[in-house]
Amino acid sequence: MSRIRDISDVVEQRLCTGCGACAYIDPGLEMVDDLEVGRRPLGRSQPGLQVCPGIGLEHEAMPAGALPDLAAGWGPVLAVYEGYAADPEIRSLASSGGAATALALFAVERAGMYGVLHIAARRDIPWLNETILSRSRAELLAATGSRYAPASPCDGLDRIEAAPAPCVFIGKPCDVAAAHRAARLRPALGARLGLSIAIFCAGTPSTAATLDFIRTLGIDDPTAVDSVRYRGRGWPGRFRARVGEREVSATYADSWHALQSRRQWRCYVCADHTGEFADVAVGDPWYREIPENEPGRSLVLARTERGRALIESAIAEGYLVLAPASPDILAASQPELLKTRGAVWGRIWATRLLGVAAPRYRGFPMLRFWWRELSGWEKLQSVIGTIRRVFRKRLRHRLKLAPYRVDEEPPRSHRS
Ligand SMILES: Cc1cc2nc3c(=O)[nH]c(=O)nc-3n(C[C@H](O)[C@H](O)[C@H](O)COP(=O)(O)OP(=O)(O)OC[C@H]3O[C@@H](n4cnc5c(N)ncnc54)[C@H](O)[C@@H]3O)c2cc1C
Ligand code: SF4
Ligand code: SF4
Repeated sequence: MSRIRDISDVVEQRLCTGCGACAYIDPGLEMVDDLEVGRRPLGRSQPGLQVCPGIGLEHEAMPAGALPDLAAGWGPVLAVYEGYAADPEIRSLASSGGAATALALFAVERAGMYGVLHIAARRDIPWLNETILSRSRAELLAATGSRYAPASPCDGLDRIEAAPAPCVFIGKPCDVAAAHRAARLRPALGARLGLSIAIFCAGTPSTAATLDFIRTLGIDDPTAVDSVRYRGRGWPGRFRARVGEREVSATYADSWHALQSRRQWRCYVCADHTGEFADVAVGDPWYREIPENEPGRSLVLARTERGRALIESAIAEGYLVLAPASPDILAASQPELLKTRGAVWGRIWATRLLGVAAPRYRGFPMLRFWWRELSGWEKLQSVIGTIRRVFRKRLRHRLKLAPYRVDEEPPRSHRS
């Protein structure tokens, strides 16, 4: 493996998360969909490296007021809340309790923000995603729900930069980290990035994983679907795909089980699953058994003073119904994520041992979680399992992208 000299090295050495920030910095790069891999920049570029979260992340000092017990495992957290969107339609259509959408709507309707840059299913090809700038409740509502497939919200950061007033940005933790890096580099963007909201993220499965899963539900040509929803319409809601009048569906657990085994490699060595660079981060408060038909709820973290102020205003103005919660519910809700933080230490160690590129992290304690959270077997697995994956996924070989063009038959084989 060679050094990372430009963006094509990041892609070929499988460090790319697919955020799209390099394509914002260098419009010469084209974001393409490789159905087996993810959304990727096509082309060579050095400027893009300055904002790339794929090659590594760095925390500066913790902000004043960060809860000391959470800092090492979860990054800066000023306050923890649990609750839901006050608007029942948002709450029901959303992924968890609709906190991301409700807060974004508040920012646009009451806090003077121009719009919300985020992700929605592509209108022409609903099994792919596109970046949109929503400006109304109806537009936000149409884009609710987690999409467990590649999406590059940072490829639309130019729309925030060009907006006449500050905007909200919603994305996965790597997207948000990249957006903030880009905002530091480009003051015009920094001035317009009014609020960042990160959704918790355990990993992005490939598009091919979605298509294959739809096939298992009995639709022979998954590319013909008119809509795909991964969850929502209930909590967590069902995976649903529709062709004309025919709808097939599966439980959230079954769909996630099928999709997660085809996460992009970079997610296995991701240390930030909870949006540590965001103003606000949202996830599922799964610290207790959820009875069937319980309406959705969100776990909400204020990570900056700006985030906390907007959350408090959204509560006061009736957009969010949130109550302060014990910091303990974070680890109780996401026990796997703390283990993952430890396992990443073993995985990075093993990949480097084999000469495979790995991201560099500063300010992300991991070794202590590897030691404390993992059993002896899990510790061994974090190393041995990674060595196996390095060979099985051919990580020592450079990746050759296969961009999908709309008139092509999508491949059926699993490439990486
Ligand atoms: C790939 C992936 C992995 C996830 N892993 C976890 C996890 O480990 N733990 C957990 O608690 N929750 C996870 N989630 C779910 C998500 O973090 C929660 O549902 C979160 O609480 C958001 O709920 P909400 O009701 O506030 O969102 P909503 O109000 O429904 O809003 C969701 C927002 O997310 C945006 N969005 C959807 N999909 C994507 C995407 N792929 N990339 C960027 N933006 C997107 C939408 O545009 C929308 O603005 C994951 C979601 C995704 C997409
Ligand atoms: S992680 Fe983002 S910035 Fe880095 S190469 Fe991939 S798309 Fe570009
Ligand atoms: S697991 Fe990490 S790298 Fe992968 S998509 Fe989620 S935030 Fe990005």
